[in-house]
Amino acid sequence: MKSYRKELWFEVPTRRAFLNITPQVEQCLRESGIREGLCLVNAMHITASVFINDDESGLHHDYDVWLEKLAPHEPVSAYHHNRTGEDNADAHLKRQIMGREVVVAVTGGRLDFGPWEQIFYGEFDGRRRKRVLVKIIGE
Ligand code: ZN
Repeated sequence: MKSYRKELWFEVPTRRAFLNITPQVEQCLRESGIREGLCLVNAMHITASVFINDDESGLHHDYDVWLEKLAPHEPVSAYHHNRTGEDNADAHLKRQIMGREVVVAVTGGRLDFGPWEQIFYGEFDGRRRKRVLVKIIGE
């Protein structure tokens, strides 16, 4: 069995953003040489997510509005976590609901997606360098 590991780095200039990272993950799959197996992609930070959905800007806007309703950034004093001196309690909660990782089947050397599926990095406390782990196993 082959095994491949790579860290992808991101630094978004805003507090929150959604990035389509499918091309980078497809590049990892090409580098791995794996034709049949599984591809894990996970955020390595507890204030960021990796998830699969549609690459549609209206939907990404809707996610942002929905997440701000569930866990508004302000007032930061509303959260016990922020008593540590941080201001990112909302980002931890947003990450929890959008998820830590995805697993995609690898079939015939390609990511075996359903219709319209794309992989996204969800940033909820940006403006600093953060990592995503790609691990691919198979043969
Ligand atoms: Zn925190």
